Amino acid sequence: MQCLDWQALDNDAKRQALSRSPLIGDTNLEQQVKGIIDQVASQGDAALKAFSEQFDKVTLDTLRLSDEAIEAAAAKVDEQIKAAIEQAKANIETFHQAQAFKAIDLETQGGVRCELRSEPIEKVGLYIPGGSAPLISTVLMLALPAKIAGCQQRVLVSPPPIDDAIVYAAKTCGITDIYQIGGAQAIAALALGTESVPAVDKIFGPGNRYVTEAKRLVAQDSRTVVSIDMPAGPSEVLVLADSTANPDFIAADLLSQAEHGPDSQVMLVTDSQTLADAVNLSLVEQLAKLPRVDIATQALSASRTLLVKDMTQAAEVSNLYGPEHLIIQTQAPRQILNNIRAAGSVFLGAYTPESVGDYASGTNHVLPTYGYSRAVSSLSLADFCRRFTVQELSAEGLLGLGQCVMTLASAEQLDAHRNAIAVRLATLASEEK
Ligand code: NAD
Repeated sequence: MQCLDWQALDNDAKRQALSRSPLIGDTNLEQQVKGIIDQVASQGDAALKAFSEQFDKVTLDTLRLSDEAIEAAAAKVDEQIKAAIEQAKANIETFHQAQAFKAIDLETQGGVRCELRSEPIEKVGLYIPGGSAPLISTVLMLALPAKIAGCQQRVLVSPPPIDDAIVYAAKTCGITDIYQIGGAQAIAALALGTESVPAVDKIFGPGNRYVTEAKRLVAQDSRTVVSIDMPAGPSEVLVLADSTANPDFIAADLLSQAEHGPDSQVMLVTDSQTLADAVNLSLVEQLAKLPRVDIATQALSASRTLLVKDMTQAAEVSNLYGPEHLIIQTQAPRQILNNIRAAGSVFLGAYTPESVGDYASGTNHVLPTYGYSRAVSSLSLADFCRRFTVQELSAEGLLGLGQCVMTLASAEQLDAHRNAIAVRLATLASEEK
């Protein structure tokens, strides 16, 4: 990995050192994905089947998996995998159940009652990537919060042929609507609806560039009223480490991210040149033994080590980058945590590799990438709900608040707003006589 001395860099070089590869702006991709969405809009199921043949090389009779097909696929799953799914599921359920919404119901002034309520989003679509790896863990990360939140219709889509373990995980998380469709066409189907796929209110889940672009486009499409979970790009990790850290652990963590894809980005920020050198040596050793050596090598070529003056500066650099995953391997990681303001999910100490959060600690692995962690939160129960407010005034409440509202409405020259108060105050005054 390229090693840079942070303090020797000018502002431009610092920005460059924390840069990612461009995410948006591929007009060819946009045109191609627009074409797919339009074809699904005009031809429905027929377009979905044609795209499955073209991109997935699978000929489908039906898009929806029957109950019998679900049972048969689930029965084939290895007992050890089932047990691991159950353990991960229990932890994810525990952490997400604890996120239950706490309603607010109070008086802001005498006779003026205000409430904040929450309702589950009725219909949700869950995209499970399946092109290069069957992401069983993503089923748990999406289906469990959707169920706990109380979303009534939970529609899962994944490219054909759907792996048996994905079907098992979906079944054990209470999903009954499983459709074997992937890519941009699956997102279009969830947004627009077809003869067999129901349109949903919100679409969740990661995916490749076609999926990500389709989510972006359907959220802006005037034919739909659908929202999406979050903007997402290639996966990334930043490790903050001091001289006490184990270089082999750090190299293993960097590689576990680098093997995701050639566009994954890994960063090491440290105040110890000795540690940086040791991590580099360990990277070379561990990389040679990985089956996905080519992918990881490409990812590492665009990755960097940044040498800083101390760990306070390291935290500042991390905040500027806003990593999706942040690993802190220092003598007192919780002290550093107090300085962290932007990260999707944080992994503290030598015994907390990112993999535990990817699969089974209980936290959600759907996280903002590309620096969006500065403003976007990691996926949680709240994303599967919509909040709304309620207000109720008694006569006393309106008497106490009416003049304030009329003054502000007059100042905005909105006379009808003012009159809506005035007409009531006049009625109250006449009733008093
Ligand atoms: P995928 O399910 O996202 O995409 C496969 C689909 O892409 C296919 O079904 C096909 O319809 C479509 N496709 C393939 N080639 C196409 C082409 N030339 N034109 C149009 N459509 C085409 O699976 P994948 O490809 O394995 O990608 C998974 C992605 O999800 C990876 O990039 C991975 O990094 C990402 N991911 C991110 C997270 C996260 O939390 N950020 C988690 C898991 C996976």
